[in-house]
Amino acid sequence: MKFGGTSVGSAQRMKNVAKLICDSPRNLVVLSAMSGTTNSLVEISKYLNNHNADGANETINQLEQKYKGHIVELISDETILAQLSQFLNEQFDFLRSFTKHPFGIREEKIVLAQGEILSTNMMTAYLREQGINVALLSALDFMRIDKNGEPDSIYIKEKIAEQLKANADAELFITQGFICRNAYGEIDNLQRGGSDYTASLLGAAIGASEIQIWTDIDGMHNNDPRIVEHTTAIRQLHFNEAAELAYFGAKVLHPTCIQPAKFANIPVRVLNTMMPEAPGTLISNESERGIIKAVAAKDNITAIKIKSSRMLLAHGFLRRVFEIFESYQTSIDMICTSEVGVSMSIDNTTHLNEIVEDLKKYGTVTVDHGMCIICVVGDMDWENIGFESRAMDAMKDIPVRMVSYGGSNYNISFLVRESDKVTALRKLSKCLFNEE
Ligand code: ADP
Ligand code: ASP
Ligand code: MG
Repeated sequence: MKFGGTSVGSAQRMKNVAKLICDSPRNLVVLSAMSGTTNSLVEISKYLNNHNADGANETINQLEQKYKGHIVELISDETILAQLSQFLNEQFDFLRSFTKHPFGIREEKIVLAQGEILSTNMMTAYLREQGINVALLSALDFMRIDKNGEPDSIYIKEKIAEQLKANADAELFITQGFICRNAYGEIDNLQRGGSDYTASLLGAAIGASEIQIWTDIDGMHNNDPRIVEHTTAIRQLHFNEAAELAYFGAKVLHPTCIQPAKFANIPVRVLNTMMPEAPGTLISNESERGIIKAVAAKDNITAIKIKSSRMLLAHGFLRRVFEIFESYQTSIDMICTSEVGVSMSIDNTTHLNEIVEDLKKYGTVTVDHGMCIICVVGDMDWENIGFESRAMDAMKDIPVRMVSYGGSNYNISFLVRESDKVTALRKLSKCLFNEE
């Protein structure tokens, strides 16, 4: 069971989570940092990187005050409160100690790890106060990534099994999401939003019956609820559909979390802490035929077109183009080709200038900024008829820069201007889900 920052965002919410995790025996619980904390830690790191000790101390002190308020609301037992308060003092003194020494990437990773360490210690203290025999496991003892930053599944499986065995009498296990050690044993993390990934890796490692991602919304929705009215929660998704949605903007689930669960064939259920009885979204290797499930959008996309008469009847052209992107470690999201040109979309523009300069060796290059990928997910098997045309029809009044269909059986994507995103999402919602 993984509870996101929104689910442990206040003392009251932590108490609600405590009820949910004690519902059935021997759950392994992964917690994020309280919402906003990792952002504050990022801010503190920025001050430290800029040698601004005053800025860092001020932000650390503000965060400390917030946590002092949280623990008083959370714990009533005086002894437990005194212990937790002592723990907070040590944690915040530790954070302040970074202002006194050189600060680099390693130190930054240590600072970023403190949010999950705080939240899990608070939850453990509360559960102990409630008389629960809970074991707090340190993710740093079993979550490890290799030299390529990829999780070391074999190590994780072995080490978590050791930890569970060593705490055989515990009724409940709590651990930190997001944080891990790297191949050199240093503290590291699974990237922002990575607690979902921790949960999925651990679920796979222990052969859990289900991986539950608890958040503040009742499952993955058929459209972005922040933009479109009357969205509904999707009851069932195939792992591949969920992967497309998560990657293309549905923030409820981190895209990395799909693969370990899919591979281990363990269903993932997205549930709402505020409405625990709601069925949520079940993600599994089952697919429902003949249904368009959902729409998601991803902003900040750049389209690059390369046109070349040399592409006509030539082979190896695409390889040369793709090699340029590879050499700048830039991944391509969408591609469309014709006999005389290729269009691609990227979201990481760190090396855009170099990429464009290199591409110019092979043809005329045009770049469009401020684009948005609209991704329609569902049963898009090519032999089904009418599904892609329904999506196309919804887009009929919107200028479409690229269309990608047939890459998988699960989606059709459109590249449009960011300024047309809201209209596109609303039109798709109307045409696909709220047929009059
Ligand atoms: P958690 O801390 O539970 O992981 P996050 O803050 O990481 O929660 O992300 C979940 C939030 O993302 C939800 O509160 C929801 O409002 C928001 N959200 C963003 N995009 C979408 C979307 N396409 N559909 C539904 N919710 C979304
Ligand atoms: N706390 C981390 C973050 O905010 C990880 C997570 O919440 O999933 O990115
Ligand atoms: Mg999240």
